[in-house]
Amino acid sequence: LHYDEAPNVDSVPGQRSRELLEKQREIDSSAVAYPEDIPVAFEEGSGATVRDVDGNTYIDMFAGIGVLNVGHANPYVLEAVHEQADKLVHTVDFPTEARLELIEKLDEIAPSGLQGNQKVVFGGPTGSDAVEASIKLAKYNTGGDGLIAFRGAYHGATPGAMSLTGNKGFKEHYSPLLPDVVHAPYPNPFEQGKAPQEAVDHALEEVQAILEDPYGGLANPAGIFVEPIQGEGGVVTPPEGFLQGLRDLADDNDITLMFDEIQSGFGRTGEWWANDWADVTPDVMTSAKALGGVGFPLSATMYHEDLDTWGSGDHAGTYRGHVVAMRAGSRAIEYIQDHDLLAHARELGDHIRGRLREVADGNDHLGDVRGQGLFIGAEFVDSDGAPADDLVDEIQQYCFEHGVLVWTAGRHGNVLRLLPPLVLTQELAETAMDVIADAIEHATAETKQTA
Ligand code: PMP
Repeated sequence: LHYDEAPNVDSVPGQRSRELLEKQREIDSSAVAYPEDIPVAFEEGSGATVRDVDGNTYIDMFAGIGVLNVGHANPYVLEAVHEQADKLVHTVDFPTEARLELIEKLDEIAPSGLQGNQKVVFGGPTGSDAVEASIKLAKYNTGGDGLIAFRGAYHGATPGAMSLTGNKGFKEHYSPLLPDVVHAPYPNPFEQGKAPQEAVDHALEEVQAILEDPYGGLANPAGIFVEPIQGEGGVVTPPEGFLQGLRDLADDNDITLMFDEIQSGFGRTGEWWANDWADVTPDVMTSAKALGGVGFPLSATMYHEDLDTWGSGDHAGTYRGHVVAMRAGSRAIEYIQDHDLLAHARELGDHIRGRLREVADGNDHLGDVRGQGLFIGAEFVDSDGAPADDLVDEIQQYCFEHGVLVWTAGRHGNVLRLLPPLVLTQELAETAMDVIADAIEHATAETKQTA
């Protein structure tokens, strides 16, 4: 499933890429450049590799931000896509074989506490849609309006999702947003300089205070909304006990516990859902990104049947589950199962983190290596321990010039984030990690010289 010759970079940035980005920028000033101000325009992809319009081939270590879990242009999924597209593409949300098949498959892979008790609403194509649906569901279900979310969280670009997002940079121009959202600290031992248990205790105490403190808390809480592993926040894996603590607080206060699995779910961590690692079942769970199989926009909100459910029309939307995307989603689940990609993601993820830790050994700038499965973060700091986003930019740029695409994350952009397709082979991973290790050496050696 991969080009034999990857990576193969002759001319970066290429002329054609430059022309296409300039053209796009004329009509869309917010268009992403990769890395910042370096144009690249992609033409085709296969497995864990992509080729740009100038003929350069790269190993794709970010997979459309965690979308292409079964790889670019997965032939098994595309076969079903073509068959379905020839038959029926859109129906709003009338029953179709494709819809029912995906609902069944999602139940098969559901966290243990939802399996057999799970309802699903396909509220719209994007992750943000699934987040909005979850907010409505929590309010509808509890009659409350207050929500607890976490610092560093990212939940999307629509108003409700922006309200939950715990990063000013994404929302400062758009207030007022939802009024009753309070952000608690997310346990991040490295950033907070705390021991794991201490970070968890601190976060849970804050949540408890928001729920129960008569002077400062939420008057009428509806739920807690949390990423089981923060993605945009810097691939922050919370220490043991955090998710269970939230479950207990939600139960004690009779409110809804919602897990946002849009980035962390669908096999990314080597389990179907990141919450499987903690074995804590939410009341509501979102999925998007990889759910659309080979990159189709599709999102879902799964919830326990005990929640009061909507009647017909209570949550509307033209694209409540795109038929072709739903077919692609169930085919992708089958593909992951048939190729044992969860085990592969676990093993390869451990190996990649091992290689990063080898680089970190003796390199003070690589402060923390974390993640689960193929959801991987490496946090960089300067000589004083402050966030070093400039180093990550340089690493990203070096990797790009040497045929490896990586992404960034974190409040300060100082986390190198890897989310490769789960079909990444050991051989390509090794090649990519050689480049990434060189990039880190290169960027941090320069810093030492100029320090
Ligand atoms: N939640 C999480 C955890 C995400 O990572 C994202 C996207 N990065 C979203 C929600 C929003 O999804 P979308 O961009 O598809 O609206």
